[in-house]
Amino acid sequence: MVNDCVFCQIAAGLHPADVVYESGTVLAFRDIHPQAPTHILIIPRKHIARIADLQPADAAVMGDVMIAARLVAEQIGVDDAFRLVVNSGRSAGQSVFHIHVHLLAGRRFGWPPG
Ligand code: 5GP
Ligand code: ZN
Repeated sequence: MVNDCVFCQIAAGLHPADVVYESGTVLAFRDIHPQAPTHILIIPRKHIARIADLQPADAAVMGDVMIAARLVAEQIGVDDAFRLVVNSGRSAGQSVFHIHVHLLAGRRFGWPPG
């Protein structure tokens, strides 16, 4: 755990969050500033700052993150239409430096993304 990382604190139960799914390796909780009617963040419990920092040994946990996204989409009833977004790096829009997949649903999404 990285002490000054808010997502590590959420994963450790030290910071409140509206958790919708958890496993030994993954946690999913509602975004505090939702950008769609459904906006959930899926994180590995392990602190990895950015997609750009991923190592081959992280393959299994990142697979768990994607499977969790599928399970959460089903659980919430949005599996027919949802978008997953991962920002890597500040210029790409990343503001929390603990990998998270945004699961967005419940409205129309433009393409290309903004
Ligand atoms: P990023 O900009 O890094 O791709 O996404 C970070 C997301 O985390 C933002 O959508 C922001 O609203 C959310 N966020 C930041 N701090 C907290 C928090 O303490 N709790 C929750 N639930 N979401 C947070
Ligand atoms: Zn962290």
